[in-house]
Amino acid sequence: MPYSLHNLLDDTLAGHRLTEEEAVRLLSTRDRDALAIAAAADELRERKVGNVVTYVRNQNIHVTNICKNLCGFCGFGRRADDPEAFCDGMDAIREKARTAVARNVTEICLLSGVHPDYTLDSYVDLISSVRAAAPGVDIHTASPEEIAWAAERSGVPTATVIKRLREAGLGTLQGTAAEILVDEIRRVICPNKCDTATWVRIIKEAHTLGVRSTATIMYGSCESEADRARHLAILREIQDDTSGFTEFVPLSFIHEKTALYRAGLAPAGATGREDILMAAVARLFLDNFDHIQVCWGKVGTKMAEAALLSGADDFGGTMFCDDVSTDAGGEGADYFDPAEMQRIAGDLGRTLRQRTTTYELV
Ligand code: SF4
Repeated sequence: MPYSLHNLLDDTLAGHRLTEEEAVRLLSTRDRDALAIAAAADELRERKVGNVVTYVRNQNIHVTNICKNLCGFCGFGRRADDPEAFCDGMDAIREKARTAVARNVTEICLLSGVHPDYTLDSYVDLISSVRAAAPGVDIHTASPEEIAWAAERSGVPTATVIKRLREAGLGTLQGTAAEILVDEIRRVICPNKCDTATWVRIIKEAHTLGVRSTATIMYGSCESEADRARHLAILREIQDDTSGFTEFVPLSFIHEKTALYRAGLAPAGATGREDILMAAVARLFLDNFDHIQVCWGKVGTKMAEAALLSGADDFGGTMFCDDVSTDAGGEGADYFDPAEMQRIAGDLGRTLRQRTTTYELV
C-alpha cells in the first residue's frame, strides 16, 4: 500500500525527519491535501513555540540602489548612470539612523545594492556611522554576497571581513542573497552573485565566529519544487552544524517590474497555494528551526495571516520603508503598524509580542 500523505504527516508530527524527496511531494500537493499539510504545520508550530506571534520593531535604511549584480528578479538595483540611481552620504545615513532611534526600533537593516566601488572600509564606515547614531540597536546587514564582495575588493579573507564588521558594530548577518541555493537556477536569476558553495561557506564562517543570521529563500520565479526542497535541505544541514540561524524567512517573488518576468523567464510570482505550502513545508522540514517568518511586504497582510495558520509564527519587522519590494511592484510594503498585527494575531486567538532580532521578548 502506498505511503499516504496523512500517514506521512502523522509520522512527521511524531518525530520523523522529512527527506528531501518527501519535501518535494509536499510542495507539489495541489488538492485539498495542501490544507492538511498546513494544519499539520500549524500543530507543530503550536507545540514548538506556542500561541505567540512575534514581530521586531525595525527600520530599513537603503544606502544605495547602485548594484553590480542587476539580478533578473530584482526591481531595486540600478546601474550607476541610471537617472533613478542614488547613493546616500554619511550625513543622510546618520540622519536616517537617528529617525529610526526616535521610532524606538531595536533593529536597523542596512539593505542596499552591492555598490561596485565599495570596499571593506566602505562597509566598516557605514556600520560605524550607524552604530554611533544608534547605540544599542542591532545592526542587521551584510549578506554573504556583500561579505564576498568586500573581501574580493580589499584582498582579504572573508573571515577578516566578518570580524572587522563585527568590531564596527555589526549585530547579525542578513541571510539574504541565498535566493535559490542551486547553481543552475542562480545562473538564470542572479548570475553575478556568489555561488551556492560560497554562500554556504560564508554563512557557516559567520556562525562559527558567533555572528548569527537569518536564512531566506526567494521562491516563485523559475525554480522547481525539487530546487526549493534542495534549498531547504542545505539550510537544515547548516543549522545541524552551527545552530546559527535565528529564523527562516520565505520571500515570495514580486514579479511586476523585473527583467526576469518581462523576458518571459518567470511566471507572475508564486500562487497563494505555493505561499502557504512554503510556510508549512518549512515548518515541517526545518525541524531544527524554531521560527518561521511570514514576509507581509511580499505576500500582503491577508496572505500573511493565512501563513500564520500554516506553520509561521513571526511577522518580521515594522520596516518603515521597503524600496526593494515597492520598486519591484509590491504595494503597501512600507510599514506594518503593530496595532494591525495585533488585530490579525487576535483574529487567530493568538497573542502578539514584540521581540528582538534574536527572539528575546521585549
Ligand atoms: S537583489 Fe540585491 S544584488 Fe541583486 S540586483 Fe537587487 S540589490 Fe543588487
